[in-house]
Amino acid sequence: PPERLHVALSRNAYDIVIGEGVLRRAGAEMAQRLEGRRAVIVSDQSVAPLHLPTLRESLADAGFTVAGEFLVPPGEASKCFTQFERLVDGILSAKADRRLAVIALGGGVVGDLAGFAAAAVLRGLPFVQCPTTLLAQVDSSVGGKTGINTSHGKNLVGAFHQPRLVLADTATLRTLPPRELRAGWAEVAKHGLLQGPLWEWCESEGPRAMQGDPEALAYAVLESCRLKSAVVVDDEFEMKAEGGRALLNLGHTFGHALEAECGYGGELLHGEAVAIGLGLATELSARLGLCSQEMPGRVREHLREVGLPNRIAALPRRFSVERLIARMRADKKARDGAMRFVLLRAPGDVFTESGVTEAMVRALLSE
Ligand code: NAD
Ligand code: ZN
Repeated sequence: PPERLHVALSRNAYDIVIGEGVLRRAGAEMAQRLEGRRAVIVSDQSVAPLHLPTLRESLADAGFTVAGEFLVPPGEASKCFTQFERLVDGILSAKADRRLAVIALGGGVVGDLAGFAAAAVLRGLPFVQCPTTLLAQVDSSVGGKTGINTSHGKNLVGAFHQPRLVLADTATLRTLPPRELRAGWAEVAKHGLLQGPLWEWCESEGPRAMQGDPEALAYAVLESCRLKSAVVVDDEFEMKAEGGRALLNLGHTFGHALEAECGYGGELLHGEAVAIGLGLATELSARLGLCSQEMPGRVREHLREVGLPNRIAALPRRFSVERLIARMRADKKARDGAMRFVLLRAPGDVFTESGVTEAMVRALLSE
């Protein structure tokens, strides 16, 4: 039977349903929660041939009418104004009323784009997430952040729009390219470090999950969603000055800078950049005397075991330290040009810190 998590947000509570084959229950699960019986589906051209027929059939069985299907090209470039406009126009052409549901079937790109369209059309249509990448199942489909990219940077235009339902079908992960599966694992390892006991589970079961073990993957998704949704319930709109949603940025100050230097589009996947960032954040914590000296080695060893890059020097490309530092200062989460890091005392004991000196970061990145 699938696992269920209830996310009790004050204004809109919803369920996350996780397991093998839950996509086949999409229609039935939606029928229990939504008033309307019309929906549009948003997906990408790689995912649609693989998994859209299952969703379509399940909706028909539950009495839903699919009023439109919109496919975007796979890849980050589809999180743009052009696709957003196309989608909004398509949804309105499907005679949208406030009961028309928008279903995202795909990775984080489809989820962020479809979610933003759902947030915008008629100031909010019911939104259902059917994440098909590990990254989307453990991270992007939960939490209500939606949006697109602009020439000024990633995710700079968007809205908070919580889904009414998340259906994470772990069977869809079997068609995912292995490199994408591993990239998603970086966020699982991050959740492990934030949570504590989950980190030790990652160390022992991560390699098995990366070989595609369905039970290990389902557990990783379940525990990740549990951790992330608890953080989101605590700080839905990222208003807390300390802790809260900002903690989910562990490894991301470094990760975003590396990703931005590479340009978005393949050379370094988000999860790969985050993996290196997790190694660096732990190393920084050890040098500041916050965590044990063995912790950075443990983190890097785990990342190596699951097939993720674990240090900058392991990458083919060389990076300019000054450019990375400039990127970190300009990060949208930085305050007044001070780099903001999430540091770790031990797995399960993390905090945000803006007082790290630039000299320290420069030394770390120069190795
Ligand atoms: P993605 O959506 O681009 O998917 C990665 C690739 O896998 C694509 O080529 C896609 O076509 C393919 N794919 C997806 N599912 C598949 C399947 N089951 N079988 C075969 N191929 C499949 O990338 P992603 O890593 O899922 O998401 C990255 C995006 O998520 C970024 O834009 C990032 O900003 C966003 N994100 C958002 C949040 C949030 O809170 N909203 C959090 C983290 C990341
Ligand atoms: Zn991330």
